[in-house]
Amino acid sequence: MIPARTPATFSHIVLVTGARTWDDEPTMRSVFRDVWRTWGAENIVKPLLLSGHCDKGADAMAERLWRDAGFGILTFPADWNGGGNGAGFHRNQRMVHAAQAFSDTGAEVRCTAFLDLCRRPSCPQRTNEQLLACGRRGHFSHGTVHCRSCAQAAGLQVIDAMPVGRVLRPGTRKV
Ligand SMILES: [Zn+2]
Repeated sequence: MIPARTPATFSHIVLVTGARTWDDEPTMRSVFRDVWRTWGAENIVKPLLLSGHCDKGADAMAERLWRDAGFGILTFPADWNGGGNGAGFHRNQRMVHAAQAFSDTGAEVRCTAFLDLCRRPSCPQRTNEQLLACGRRGHFSHGTVHCRSCAQAAGLQVIDAMPVGRVLRPGTRKV
């Protein structure tokens, strides 16, 4: 649901997208801390999280951190029953549109993307070795890549994060 235009209701928006396998809480906390520092904590009157509401991984973790902090959360669950395979992608687009709408009202908006490897054994893109340059095989999970691309195309600032020690392992180049 895209909220009605409510100028200045929310001052700062974080759109979270990320892998269902994301489990690195220290890295996520550090990303949010950096966003806060960039904005200036004293300016953040009313922050809001936009989340795809997946019950595990990055969405669930981000929602928990925001709930614990007492901040607002607006969820965009995918319509997996009615929306078929494209449900997650449609949801991403709705979420980015909402973020844009907030940006139009003057809110500061950041998209934070918590990237992890695609683990689908039968992934049709399994020959996509996007990460070879980082010293390992494979590619990032598709939903996160799609959402961050939508956010970028919409002109939103994107901050990428990867789990420490898993995706990028400098010095270990096993290909
Ligand atoms: Zn894949």
